[in-house]
Amino acid sequence: MNLEIIAVGTELLLGDVVNTNAPWLSKELAALGMNVYRHTTVGDNMGRLQDAYREAFSRSDAVIVTGGLGPTADDITKEAAAECFGLDMQLHEESLATIEAFFTRIGHVMTENNIKQAVFPVGSKILDNPNGTAPGCIIEHGGKICIMLPGPPREMQGMYHRHIKAYLAAFSDGVLVSRTLKLVGIGESAMEEKVADILKSQTNPTVAPYATSRAGEVILRISAKAADKAKAREMMMPVADMLYQRLGEHIYGEDDDTLAEIIVNRMAAQGLTLACAESITGGAFAAAIINVPGASRVLQEAVVCYSNESKVARFGVSPQSLEKYGAVSAQVAKEMAEGAAKSANTDVAISFTGIAGPDGGTEAKPVGLCYIGLYHNGTCEVKEFRLFGDRQRIRDRAVAHGMNMLRKATHPPLDRA
Ligand code: ATP
Ligand code: MG
Repeated sequence: MNLEIIAVGTELLLGDVVNTNAPWLSKELAALGMNVYRHTTVGDNMGRLQDAYREAFSRSDAVIVTGGLGPTADDITKEAAAECFGLDMQLHEESLATIEAFFTRIGHVMTENNIKQAVFPVGSKILDNPNGTAPGCIIEHGGKICIMLPGPPREMQGMYHRHIKAYLAAFSDGVLVSRTLKLVGIGESAMEEKVADILKSQTNPTVAPYATSRAGEVILRISAKAADKAKAREMMMPVADMLYQRLGEHIYGEDDDTLAEIIVNRMAAQGLTLACAESITGGAFAAAIINVPGASRVLQEAVVCYSNESKVARFGVSPQSLEKYGAVSAQVAKEMAEGAAKSANTDVAISFTGIAGPDGGTEAKPVGLCYIGLYHNGTCEVKEFRLFGDRQRIRDRAVAHGMNMLRKATHPPLDRA
């Protein structure tokens, strides 16, 4: 089945509200094996909304519309659809009773305009909305399907799961299942180069790289369309195998895994404790670790030691090293990590020192220069990085590289497929 999504709301066009409904629905629909061909956003305007419907139905079997089901005069989604299909509007008594009961329950008197929410195009299937007052509806007319859902994401999502998923699944000739491989410590182009032949040759399953909003991380998504989930998973196996063979050392997890979570769980399983000494990252590394439930099994202490004095006072970094090599140096990173492990009495410690910019760079030590120290097994490894981007990106990338060093140090590369 070919589908389009129309998001209705002038606030979306003004940029006041970000349209999250369309991508959310697209993901869900893909999982059902539906082809989503277009996203449209249109304001609360009768003429333009009708145009959007007509265009969408000229191309597609079904349209899902979100927004504009509320009580106010600018909510015209149902009215515009009725007009397009040549249907009258009719009061749905049961919905009206539910809306009235809702207002009674919260101790309000229902205002007249709320009746509008119980009026639907004749012949609609009505979809009750347990999270709000506006019910949705489905029109099936002339071989076309128009599904109307409320705008607030929580209500829309609840109604999708309650009514739409099962309704649409009946039209689907298969499912699309995806597996997301998550990589760190390799750039997007380097990754693509290593698997270019695989990316090109696959049609079902497909393999595609995706950018992520997480600095320093990249994603490869394998998607297979098949009659059922098990078959789709089976089809993805050999492709995943090949990808693990070529990129295994960079793959830290799959799907909902996060790097911090993998590290915390691994360290906890091995009974390893962690301390952090952070300068350039300003506590961001520890914050990411602490985001993981159960981080207390691992993290003992994290200190932001920003000034030279603090590095000396907290971690016993030697003033001579600071003088001779500077705060941003391999030697200082090493002393910070060693000092952190010692002061918190941990098995592992990580340190970050660098220049985030935009000022403070020199030719010898440019903006983006960063040293990460990792103390474990009684020795300290220090790595130098030349990071790029603005201040925030540089700091985020430093966190990602630190995570990757810790991941590698606490475990051999993943070998899962
Ligand atoms: P209500 O009964 O709340 O008026 P409605 O179905 O009429 O619901 P709208 O008035 O269009 O929906 O939108 C209500 C709110 O829902 C918007 O102010 C916005 O916060 C949110 N919303 C609407 N559409 C979207 C969308 N496409 N993505 C994300 N949020 C949305
Ligand atoms: Mg509204």
